[in-house]
Amino acid sequence: MSELLRVEGLTKHFPIRGGVLRRARGQVRAVDGVSFTVAAGETLGLVGESGCGKTTTSRMVVRLVEPTEGRVFLRGKEITGLSGDALRDVRRELQIVFQDPYSSLSPRMTVHDLVAEPLRIQGLYRDGGRERVTSLLETVGLQPEHANRYAHEFSGGQRQRIGIARALALGPSILVLDEPVSALDVSVRAQVVNELSALQDSLGLAYVFVSHDLSVVRHVCDRVAVMYLGKIVELASTRSLYARPAHPYTQALLSAIPIPDPTQVRERIVLTGDVPSASDPPSGCRFRTRCWKAQEVCAVEEPPLLPQGPADHVAACHFPTEADVLAGEHFAPEAADDVSG
Ligand code: ATP
Repeated sequence: MSELLRVEGLTKHFPIRGGVLRRARGQVRAVDGVSFTVAAGETLGLVGESGCGKTTTSRMVVRLVEPTEGRVFLRGKEITGLSGDALRDVRRELQIVFQDPYSSLSPRMTVHDLVAEPLRIQGLYRDGGRERVTSLLETVGLQPEHANRYAHEFSGGQRQRIGIARALALGPSILVLDEPVSALDVSVRAQVVNELSALQDSLGLAYVFVSHDLSVVRHVCDRVAVMYLGKIVELASTRSLYARPAHPYTQALLSAIPIPDPTQVRERIVLTGDVPSASDPPSGCRFRTRCWKAQEVCAVEEPPLLPQGPADHVAACHFPTEADVLAGEHFAPEAADDVSG
């Protein structure tokens, strides 16, 4: 598969301001040197606890937040620093769907106008825009007659479909989905997730799928990057990550996935201590203050991301060990060995 998106060393430090003059008194290191790639048609999951930097990363990718450092490439062309017409061209290819379909859609615009807006901004509405909006609504499972209504008249799942139709208006090749189903009722989450998968198949889209729900991520992602305090600590194919998580943080996250069968019991790894402040992260390995394996070196040296078995499986830990956290629940062993695809 050809590389569509490349992110290199993406970093965002937000200034903390205080006092009468609002001078910078420090900085929140929200994202600190994140790198990954996404191939055409692929889904990369970005997971981690609240505050680990997923949203900031996704907003930097689509240029809604300017990085402090780092570069983003789309089809090999650097898009960091672009503005005006060049940035508008990028928006045709790279779109975002927001977490909250309640606040991200203007209550003053009809569904038609919400979906048509990107076409109008790009000067593409005049030529067949009305038909394009009708077809987009159908693509996401809405009726043409919904076009004249307002977003607040719809349920959460339908509103998220309006958000997806809007993101698809310009025919993008990649969508950044920022927690696309977490604001929805449990009953409609699976529906929207399945529709996103179907859209991906029919339109050949690539997704960056931001989520804290490891059950959903396992279902939809080809590869997964696990973030902790602004850094990627493990990155692997979904199959390899769930079968042999190497980083203690990933192991703890996976051990907390609810088991569908109530007769089964899994030993849960309970992390002690709070997530440290992103304005003063621990030295060395940022996870060490909550890690049961931590030793002296962990406070001194930051562990690099290194291969763990399969070449596409990397983890940043001084003492990585494979742990079968989901024993018996993941893919069959012979399938788990085949992580090439
Ligand atoms: P969540 O799932 O809760 O949205 P997240 O993993 O997406 O969390 P971010 O929202 O990216 O994490 O936040 C990462 C860190 O950056 C947090 O410590 C957050 O408080 C901080 N942060 C985010 N936006 C800003 C901002 N505009 N100014 C200052 N700090 C910020």
